[in-house]
Amino acid sequence: MPTFQVHTDLLFDPKKKEFVKDISITIDPNTGLITEVHQRKDELPDSIEKPNIDLRGKVVCPGFVDAHTHIFLHAYNEAPSVVQKRDESFVERIEADANIRDAINRGLTPGPRLFVATRVIASTAAYEPRTENHLGGTCMPAGCDSADGPDELRKAVRRRIGHGADVIKFYADYYRRVMRFPPKQQHPYIPSMKFQPVHPNPDLVVFQDEEMNAIVSEAKLACAPAIAHADSREGVLAAARAGVLSIEHASRAGEDGLSMLKEKGIIFVPTMAIFELILQERFDRVVENLQLAHKLGVRLACGGDTGTFPHGENAREMEIFIEAGISVEDTLEAGTVGGWEACGGDLCGRRFGWFETGCAADIIALDTDPRVDPKALRKVSFVMKDGRIWKENHEAVDLYSP
Ligand SMILES: [Zn+2]
Repeated sequence: MPTFQVHTDLLFDPKKKEFVKDISITIDPNTGLITEVHQRKDELPDSIEKPNIDLRGKVVCPGFVDAHTHIFLHAYNEAPSVVQKRDESFVERIEADANIRDAINRGLTPGPRLFVATRVIASTAAYEPRTENHLGGTCMPAGCDSADGPDELRKAVRRRIGHGADVIKFYADYYRRVMRFPPKQQHPYIPSMKFQPVHPNPDLVVFQDEEMNAIVSEAKLACAPAIAHADSREGVLAAARAGVLSIEHASRAGEDGLSMLKEKGIIFVPTMAIFELILQERFDRVVENLQLAHKLGVRLACGGDTGTFPHGENAREMEIFIEAGISVEDTLEAGTVGGWEACGGDLCGRRFGWFETGCAADIIALDTDPRVDPKALRKVSFVMKDGRIWKENHEAVDLYSP
């Protein structure tokens, strides 16, 4: 198949953090890669002949990257996660992210690029909901791959790699006394304590440093990035000391936690969209935390914890960045190149998220300019992945077209 061109007159270049004019991109459909990016000097004819593509009049961006999703979770306002785990069938709850990834990569089903964690690693009872209700032998299905001590953790990392993980995710901290003080969102019908202690269900670090170090070094051996769920200051500092690629949530990182992320070049995925959903009136402090991270120059990537709110509303994360005062340019950069870095960068085996020779031809077009229209990021009328069109003029392209 011959190469073809995509013509644009307004394109966001995340490497320059600028909107640039009159760019044409040449694509090799055999490899799905960009072979050339050039700025046009000459006028183009009014109508462009196929297979070339005319995206003039639209705002063209690299394909967006959501750096934190749960593809088999559905929205918390439909059912809290513990209820999904307890009541839904194996098929509905199946943790088959690696298999879906493979089906997409083999061309059996359409879908986005996935870089998956399979199960999260946590220490015993750190992330196994309701183990306090073990009496009588009943217990919830485990929410994680539990392991303790450096040897077991090395083995857990090996198990994750064996199960198809691209990235090794672990919990650095969590609420470990959940049934003593059931949070309202998850357990609306269970009464809480009448007289609460000062810290009824504290967010506690769940691994010793030597354990986190074992996870990170074993992941490194397998050429997989290690990433941490950490929300408390202590959890953030511990995961950062261990040298993870990214930290997810970190809403209570504090200035020293965020400064350490900056210092060590660790990516911060603030998952603003889930916090907006669950914290509501207490969301302001999380916004301030994001603003401080941005001010300190922490490397940001956009990932909403999508799945806790409906799939397809992934753009909410970037909208919150912009509403928090982060420029459209910085936001789009975090939602493209930042996402590629958060998936492992060159460990992904393919470059995506910006326009350059050798990058995947992942290209989208917006109907309106996000610098002007706050809803622009939801008006995606064109989607190309690996040089193949999946959506054109707002319509999904026939799956079985060549
Ligand atoms: Zn999550």
